[in-house]
Amino acid sequence: MCSDTDSNKESPYKEILSPISSLKGVGKVITRKFWKRGVYTVYDLLFVLPRSYQDRREFIPIHEIKSGDTALIKGKIMEIRRVRLRYRTVLEMLIGNEHEIISARWIGASLYLYRFKKEDNIILFGRFRASPKKMLETYHPEIIEDGDEYEIGRLLPVYPEIEGISQRRIRRIMMDAINRFIQNLEDPLPTKIREARRLSELGAAIKEVHFPSESRLEDLRIRRSPAQRRLIFDEFFMLQLTLAIKRSKTSRKKGIAFGVQGVQELYRFLPFKLTGSQANVIHEIITDMSRPFPMNRLLQGDVGCGKTVVALMAAWLAVWNGYQVAFMAPTQLLAEQHYLSTLELTRKMNLKVALLTSGMSSFADGVRDGVKKGDIDILIGTHALIQESVKFHRLGLAIIDEQHRFGVAQRAILKQKGISPDVLTMTATPIPRTLGLTLYGDLDISVIEELPPGRKPIQTKLFHERDRGKVYKILREEIEKGRQVYMVYPLIEESEKMDLKDATQMAEKIRGIFPDLHIALIHGKVPLDQREGIMEEFKEGAIDILVSTTVIEVGINIINATLMVIENAERFGLSQIHQLRGRVGRSAYPSKCLLLASYRKTGEARKRLRIIEKTTDGFKIAEEDLAIRGPGEFLGERQSGFYQFRVANIMRDAEILSEARKEAFGLVEYDPELAYRTYNLLRQMFRGSQRGMDEFVDVA
Ligand code: ADP
Ligand code: MG
Repeated sequence: MCSDTDSNKESPYKEILSPISSLKGVGKVITRKFWKRGVYTVYDLLFVLPRSYQDRREFIPIHEIKSGDTALIKGKIMEIRRVRLRYRTVLEMLIGNEHEIISARWIGASLYLYRFKKEDNIILFGRFRASPKKMLETYHPEIIEDGDEYEIGRLLPVYPEIEGISQRRIRRIMMDAINRFIQNLEDPLPTKIREARRLSELGAAIKEVHFPSESRLEDLRIRRSPAQRRLIFDEFFMLQLTLAIKRSKTSRKKGIAFGVQGVQELYRFLPFKLTGSQANVIHEIITDMSRPFPMNRLLQGDVGCGKTVVALMAAWLAVWNGYQVAFMAPTQLLAEQHYLSTLELTRKMNLKVALLTSGMSSFADGVRDGVKKGDIDILIGTHALIQESVKFHRLGLAIIDEQHRFGVAQRAILKQKGISPDVLTMTATPIPRTLGLTLYGDLDISVIEELPPGRKPIQTKLFHERDRGKVYKILREEIEKGRQVYMVYPLIEESEKMDLKDATQMAEKIRGIFPDLHIALIHGKVPLDQREGIMEEFKEGAIDILVSTTVIEVGINIINATLMVIENAERFGLSQIHQLRGRVGRSAYPSKCLLLASYRKTGEARKRLRIIEKTTDGFKIAEEDLAIRGPGEFLGERQSGFYQFRVANIMRDAEILSEARKEAFGLVEYDPELAYRTYNLLRQMFRGSQRGMDEFVDVA
């Protein structure tokens, strides 16, 4: 992190960046072990933070210990012997005084027979429980010997396991690092911010987190001590600084100022009246587009709320101004659907729309040619759009649907096909606010909050596996009403093979149960043209039940399909189920979603699934999901690694996050380049921290 050009030779940072081997007791072997954990310098080591603490502040009198307690005790060895326990010989010490005695046992520690003897005084730290004979016993307690005095009389840090280095060893090394180097640790956080937010000074915070002297144990355990708060703040602050700088760069960049005169004209082409929410969002987008900076906006809205039409209006505006539009979706089916609805909505306009996916080699050349010449106005497609061979004549707007399904780099490539084009990204995954601030802190966000009128809320009901019969009965009723059904195996992607097998077997089983119905199966291994054929038949009503894996995309829009059965629902995140069920409930017909799951009455799975049964609010569901499953669910593959915060936790520390955000954005507004001298160190750290960040934040 220090190869910076402007890193100052005299900086005390040089000291703290000494190799780990400059610490006492760190030879070649230990050094390698640290390297394996990414710890190279003293600085790195200081940020290996305790994962918990042991309370070794005082000796607990033996008679005060209760079963289950962990305690530090002092006593006399009343007896030391080998005892035979089932098939093992263990070493046992009886320790205490004439009133109280506990038993301490070690398996395979006969050596102690030579090191200790009856009448010796001994200090132990261990977890005690009542033995069948009512005597308190402890297995493998730690013996604190002479020279280990610093291991007692304090709250002792417990570090993450580092293979081959004992806790005691890590503590000694850490102690040396702190004693010798902590005064060289300069605080990069501007004093003004530190004082305004009442944060401890960095060196003091680090020291206190490793070897607490003022913190309360209860606070430490829930990561609420002032020292921890400081470190949490820092983690968020660095991230928010990245976002703030990124955003400030974009907002100072020259972009396209689209003309918006007569934009009202466009509304004429709409086949329906926009919802209030859609109108607001379009207004926000148009305002962005009219500004001479690149738009960078995220459009959020539950499945079926009508994002596509909003995106198309933006597209029209771009085309109207003489620019081209790229509209990228994560899958073939979605791209095709967008293509079809775009054709439909632009029928009365004089626009050229084309589709480009990797499955269509024969037309592809013609399409690419048209795009390059500028004959094609709107190019819709999959990842195929970011191939090198795709060149735009004049790309003005990039629209990315289900944006989290693309990596940062992929999004960036699309953008780079134009000169600072406006970018509109869309997602149907409602992002809880706290997470949004972290993930999309550099974007402007628009939210569509209502569904088009006339939609009946989807009724969701949870069934236990053993009530499968009831589900079949409802399914039959629905089909008799003339409706169609999806049966989904929402299995996780890694197990694609299993996925296939389950859906295939299920299709067979369903055919056996409903021999009179038309049942089709669709999954990732069905060739594309066949898949399209099946979807087409389903759309036309020729298929009653469509059994599928998750290949049927979230955005798919088939009005007559009103029932969805989700198998193995317990395996899924709530947000995911919520999105899946969004495929039904797309019309005025009442729709249902039946969840089939195996669960125990009191289990977590049932509790979770009850939430989705009760609420249809995507944001609320997302919050619950975040609380239960953590942020992984909301992040693309690439982004999740980033969330290995050392101490910070987006949910628990939401308040600190918002403080850090305010300070970071405030600072960047004041000094966008961190150019002032006071920010020298911060600037260096910031640059260092950017390594790996470009994976996470769009490269501008
Ligand atoms: P999503 O936000 O999931 O992408 P879509 O854009 O696919 O939603 O819209 C879902 C359906 O609702 C489409 O059939 C679309 O034509 C229809 N729709 C969108 N907006 C309205 C509206 N304001 N009034 C009526 N129907 C609408
Ligand atoms: Mg959509």
